[in-house]
Amino acid sequence: MLVLIYIVSLFLLVGLGFYVFVADPRSRAHQTFATFIAFLALWITKDMIFWNFFPVDEAAGWWASVSFVIALLMQFAMVVFAWVFPEGSRTPRKRAAILFAPAIVLVPAAFSGLLWTRIGFDTGRFAIELTPLAYAFVAYVYFVFVYAARVLWQKYTSYRGTQAGQQVGAILWSLIITGTLKTVANLVFPYFGRYDLLPLSALFILPGVVVYAYAILNFKLFSLQTALNQFRLFPIAYKVALSIASVAVLSFVIFQVPIVYLAFRNGMDEEAWRRYLVFSIITAMIPNLVLVLLVLRILSRPIQRITLAAIAVTKGGYGTRVDMRKTNDEIGLLAESFNEMSRKMAADIEQLKRLNDQLIRTEKLAAMGTLAAGVAHEVNNPLASISSIVQIMRKESGHSDETRERLGLISAQIERIKQVTGDMTDLARSKPAARSTLNVNDVVETAIRLATFDRAFQKITLIRRMGAGLPEIVADEDQLQQVFLNLLLNARDAMPDGGTLEISSYSDEESVVLEFADDGAGIANEMSGRVFDPFFTTKPAGKGTGLGLAVCYGIVTAHGGSIELHSNEPEGAVFRVKLPFA
Ligand code: ADP
Repeated sequence: MLVLIYIVSLFLLVGLGFYVFVADPRSRAHQTFATFIAFLALWITKDMIFWNFFPVDEAAGWWASVSFVIALLMQFAMVVFAWVFPEGSRTPRKRAAILFAPAIVLVPAAFSGLLWTRIGFDTGRFAIELTPLAYAFVAYVYFVFVYAARVLWQKYTSYRGTQAGQQVGAILWSLIITGTLKTVANLVFPYFGRYDLLPLSALFILPGVVVYAYAILNFKLFSLQTALNQFRLFPIAYKVALSIASVAVLSFVIFQVPIVYLAFRNGMDEEAWRRYLVFSIITAMIPNLVLVLLVLRILSRPIQRITLAAIAVTKGGYGTRVDMRKTNDEIGLLAESFNEMSRKMAADIEQLKRLNDQLIRTEKLAAMGTLAAGVAHEVNNPLASISSIVQIMRKESGHSDETRERLGLISAQIERIKQVTGDMTDLARSKPAARSTLNVNDVVETAIRLATFDRAFQKITLIRRMGAGLPEIVADEDQLQQVFLNLLLNARDAMPDGGTLEISSYSDEESVVLEFADDGAGIANEMSGRVFDPFFTTKPAGKGTGLGLAVCYGIVTAHGGSIELHSNEPEGAVFRVKLPFA
């Protein structure tokens, strides 16, 4: 029965110590308190072993020495704890050195049997005759104990009314209760020759544990919240430790106990030992295998997945994600960070590509523009002569109807060439000429009014979603009008039999955004990258020059904005123009 109570207390203490340590492994307060608990557990262990298994003369000396020393170490841990709790302050080194110095003499003295003249069970009952040094030892232990209590009391008074105050109060209560009970069992009764309480003294630790449990639950002493946070940082060690512990306990219960029972139930003869060894060797492999599987699960497999993803990224698979269940340990954190890194990398590279494309296009446009302007200039002069000659000829009388018609045709073709060379000159000259502060909605309205003169455009249903109160921009009004008119007429060309064109305007953080969304023929994906290229057109010869969007691009970028073909699904095209605020 006594053994059972010892084991229960031991488990409670180990559980408490583990909890306190795990709650915040880096905190001095947690470390020292866990150490204090560990000494308590040691105290119980040595009592359990001595009083249940070796209550004989030879062991008594060891028991007494260890008791003295653990009692002292326990007080040391408590003092350090009192110094650092709850604010995590540093240990005052000089003070610690002075306070702990007597241990240098006393601990060796305890182990050399200098604390008693006689110890053992010679009268059938336990008895010990202490030397004056033992009394000095005990006095010193109590001195340290009282010192710790005093430090805690000072903290209690300065923190009174706060949660930290309640925590310190609970620790003080526990110290007072266990300290008193143990003093009665270990000193007062033995002093009067009654040693029968000694075996029970270890159990007087339990009320203290109850007080700690109460404070943990009610005053957030060694808060579990921190424990959970810490669990994100330290868990693999704990997971492995827990796996090993559970496998050990389980294999003990499942294998070891039955094996011992089966092997030795008929006595301890040679045959029984042989049985025991064979059973043990066979079953020993199972827990090991289970452990290997557990470690594989916790460590190897997730690391392998991360490695595979990393290799995929090095091979250019930017954006590759680690495919695994979320775990709350370092590996989970690593996987999460890896995924984030991979995503960012993919996004950045995508952005770089876009910028690069834009740069190439702008450069191409500039080169084309210069070339186009040169060609336009060379063409324009002879064209002007031809044009005026044709005009003169048309005014002359005496032409046959056929000639008159042909002259008309020549005139129309000259107009077309002029249109093309005009566009080509625009391409070269996309710098905003005149800048004024304007409202984009007004410019769009003017462009729409101009477009409505066109017959085909009239067949289109217009939907306007113009944002109210948009910030003004500084731009060349004529050029912007040209851009919007171009987009409107392109939409018209994409919907020869009519359709819907939705025009919207709104603003984001830094610019005014305009969207022209039609439900016309749309633009095939493989072509969408080229629509802004000069001379790219899908329209029949004589209808399109392929310069419209190139000119738009030049104008918008010269205004510090951007124009992009946003989407063309399921059909139709959306052009989005962004113009920065004034
Ligand atoms: P052009 O209109 O003279 O062909 P652009 O540079 O304005 O030259 O347009 C280039 C090409 O982009 C067009 O030929 C057409 O294929 C395509 N495109 C432009 N706007 C649209 C639109 N709204 N819907 C479908 N395709 C379009």
